[in-house]
Amino acid sequence: MTNPSEPSFRDSVEIMFSRAVKLIDLPDGLEEKIRVCNATYTVRFGVRLRGKIHTFTGYRAVHSEHMEPVKGGIRFAMAVHQDEVEALAALMTFKCALVETPFGGSKGGLRIDPNEWEEHELEQITRRFTYELAKRDLIHPSQNVPAPDMGTGEREMAWMADQYARMNTTDINARACVTGKPINAGGIQGRTEATGRGVQYALQEFFRYPEDIAKAGMEGTLKGKRVIVQGLGNVGYHAAKFLSEEDGCLVTAVIERDGAIHDESGIDIEALRAWIGDHGGVSGYPKGSYIQDGSNALEYECDILVPAALEGVIHLGNAKNVKAPLIIEAANGPITAGADEILRAKGTVIIPDLYANAGGVTVSYFEWVKNLSHIRFGRMEKRQEEAQHRLLIEELERLSADKGLGWELSPDFKAKFMRGAGELELVRSGLDDTMRTAYQAMRKVWHERDDVEDLRMAAYLVSIERIAASYRAKGL
Ligand code: NAD
Repeated sequence: MTNPSEPSFRDSVEIMFSRAVKLIDLPDGLEEKIRVCNATYTVRFGVRLRGKIHTFTGYRAVHSEHMEPVKGGIRFAMAVHQDEVEALAALMTFKCALVETPFGGSKGGLRIDPNEWEEHELEQITRRFTYELAKRDLIHPSQNVPAPDMGTGEREMAWMADQYARMNTTDINARACVTGKPINAGGIQGRTEATGRGVQYALQEFFRYPEDIAKAGMEGTLKGKRVIVQGLGNVGYHAAKFLSEEDGCLVTAVIERDGAIHDESGIDIEALRAWIGDHGGVSGYPKGSYIQDGSNALEYECDILVPAALEGVIHLGNAKNVKAPLIIEAANGPITAGADEILRAKGTVIIPDLYANAGGVTVSYFEWVKNLSHIRFGRMEKRQEEAQHRLLIEELERLSADKGLGWELSPDFKAKFMRGAGELELVRSGLDDTMRTAYQAMRKVWHERDDVEDLRMAAYLVSIERIAASYRAKGL
């Protein structure tokens, strides 16, 4: 981003908060209390690797403790810095309030290029970072619960959980100190895909309202919609995969670090993902056309643009050229405040980050509850449910035979109907419900208030009012 008048990511979040908070009548001082980041801890620690001591810098910001624990991912990237972590922590506060997960907002980061280190080196670094955070309760099942973000995943979460458990040998709830763990280390089914799945559910919900679709100048359903995705990492890959495989969307371009692939007949997401895995990038992919300056593809004609990589990619320099009538912010902060204004003026509908990518924290919430209850969801009721459904089917078949009705239930229906809900089905159901309910809360404000022009403003209003109510209940 080169434009000097472009606000920073943190300023962008503040500008968006300020736009919304103007419309709420808050008691004196409460606006500032909600706005500010409560605390940011910076740590510099050394790890002996490759024969010398390397010093790393990490952060954990706690934006709001109106509910505890506070929650938010840990990012491993060279661009990590205090302002970014604080902006992301603020977004977490608003996101948790919007999707009604009982957490305050936090975020962490380590300035590191994970690709530069071997797995065992990364483990040492992650464990040491965890140690630094845990000894200050910045990782703690009831105080502060991290999760994966850019550059981190199940593997890092497992190291963190194990490190915390080693430091707290008698804590029966130790596993609840981080979420996004692998299943065999206390994770939950459906967490890895959760943010991308949430993006899919968000779009499905949007497309249930013809009025909202019309606001974006579109019609019809998700089927056949042309989608451009930036970032084929955890969030982007899952969103692209589900939208193309389950909703009939055509992913016409994928933008990655080293360029973009464009193919109007639709990209095979699994094949491209495998190619990236083998070759380290999209270049050389044998189908479609390759665009070296991938960010140009943000400006291509499509129906839905899904920025799912990093912040600030749609800015003052390119916003006016972005043609997608609907943008869903799968990444955090992909649209700067300046670009947001340009896009709104053009009538682009933006499904905002604090809603769009809340699937991750929602399923993290389920994982945390699972860890605290020490039992897998569905374990008690699955077989009981199946027995009830079997009874009903047997009774229907008996009636049909007795009365000579000749009814025959298809084997496929029977199999589906009889299957009791296991953990994955329950997680998906809980996530779908959360995404629907939150969207409905936003759209109510969007449609009912004349002074609310867009979904982002509506999302902020819903969440700020909930946070304010929580502070008021505490007597602040
Ligand atoms: P990830 O590291 O798995 O994937 C990021 C992808 O973006 C990678 O494929 C990377 O190569 C690509 N990328 C990086 N720089 C790029 C560039 N300049 N142009 C194009 N592509 C680029 O990260 P992730 O977990 O998928 O997170 C992506 C975004 O989603 C971040 O903004 C993150 O904060 C947000 N998010 C993630 C989660 C989660 O559960 N993982 C939850 C909520 C929000």
